[in-house]
Amino acid sequence: MSDQAITYLTENRERLLKKLDEFLSIPSVSTDSNYKNDIKKAADFLETYLQEIGFENIEQKDTGGHPLVYAEYNGAGADKPTVLFYGHYDVQPVDPIDEWESDPFKPEIRNDRIYARGSSDDKGQVFMNLAVFEALMKTDGELPLNVKICIEGEEEIGSENLYDILHDRKDLFEADFAVISDSGMVAKNQPTILYGLKGFTGIEITVTGPDHDLHSGMYGGAVRNPIMALSHILASMKNEDEVITVDQFYDGVEPLSDEERKLIEQAPGEDFVESTGSPSTASEKGYTPEEHTMARPTFEINGIYGGYQGEGTKTIIPSSATAKITCRLVPGQEPDKIQQLLEDHVKRVAPKGVTVEVKKEKLSSKAYKVEPNHPLIKKAADSYTKAFEKETVYVRMGGSIPVVEWIDEIYNIPIVLLGFGTPEDRLHSPNESFPLDSYDKGMETLVYYWNSVAEEDI
Ligand SMILES: [Zn+2]
Repeated sequence: MSDQAITYLTENRERLLKKLDEFLSIPSVSTDSNYKNDIKKAADFLETYLQEIGFENIEQKDTGGHPLVYAEYNGAGADKPTVLFYGHYDVQPVDPIDEWESDPFKPEIRNDRIYARGSSDDKGQVFMNLAVFEALMKTDGELPLNVKICIEGEEEIGSENLYDILHDRKDLFEADFAVISDSGMVAKNQPTILYGLKGFTGIEITVTGPDHDLHSGMYGGAVRNPIMALSHILASMKNEDEVITVDQFYDGVEPLSDEERKLIEQAPGEDFVESTGSPSTASEKGYTPEEHTMARPTFEINGIYGGYQGEGTKTIIPSSATAKITCRLVPGQEPDKIQQLLEDHVKRVAPKGVTVEVKKEKLSSKAYKVEPNHPLIKKAADSYTKAFEKETVYVRMGGSIPVVEWIDEIYNIPIVLLGFGTPEDRLHSPNESFPLDSYDKGMETLVYYWNSVAEEDI
């Protein structure tokens, strides 16, 4: 089955590349209302293509913002699994336009790469998935499994309306598992399974002492200095071993297994000293920097301000001081609970003579992780390895992808991140591109994957 579809993709390569060219030529910039018609055009393109392939119930769902393209394929029958496929057709703005070597919306092939805005993030990868569905349909007369398509037009503006529609329309999006093609590999031609993402939360601490800045000679010794008080509070939250010293912060965090430590060690990574310019690395005692970034929670002070910041000296006791703190969370940690623990800690250690206010960050999310030996993940790894002829590596990421957390929260189904981007793709930057061999091998991977998971009893 797979061979025929791959032959189809080879024989139709030129035509499909032309079709991709047409899709990439539509400037579907979601953040700028001047491109509203083009957003619609990109959604129309998808609608037409899904029709040609043979999808059913195709619709541009009104989200209140840009339309979400929805479609179904139920032809595989009730005994086959159903996948929810997610991608996005909107793109980032192109400025600074002068730095582009070719028009961002006139795709050009140079150095075996397709240069265009969206070629990697995410129109190129969305197209690859659709082209594979086309190939399977044309050669087998059907798809090996049932599919629900969810391609949104607001990812680059924070997926403003996605949560609500996923939440309110469970009847539409319900599936056995989800596949997201909107990520990348750790290196070109290095198949990568991204099996974990971190969660996120934060607080802002404001310490106030006197109701106005004071003369340090007249009042120094009489009242508490808010910057000093804030420094004491912050210093009490993490120790010199990079261990977070807030009570119960690590409660529920699952221990790192030997098996996972081995996966992390095997994953190719960067030299942190070289890439950051820091004189040395610093990670939680007992963990390597790779283990800490991928699999352990973090606590960072992102900004701190208060008092006199100008040239020379100004002898004051400032009235207030503020620090902004964010944490990256791992599975087992609840953002709300972490915020509460942080607040309780700050209130408990705050010295007398100041008032302390804690503001909680609204945008919080939980971490996501799928077992690396889950059959759906194993099959993805096998499909990658077969297509790229290279052993697949497993990584977790320190960052967060909101849609992953939402699908996890609302549907509680396994999520497989099947990404084909490379670190050189320059997402969101001038000269975004995507390598042609990742395009070809990525589609081969998808053909193997869909055929093999169709046999899975989920
Ligand atoms: Zn994206």
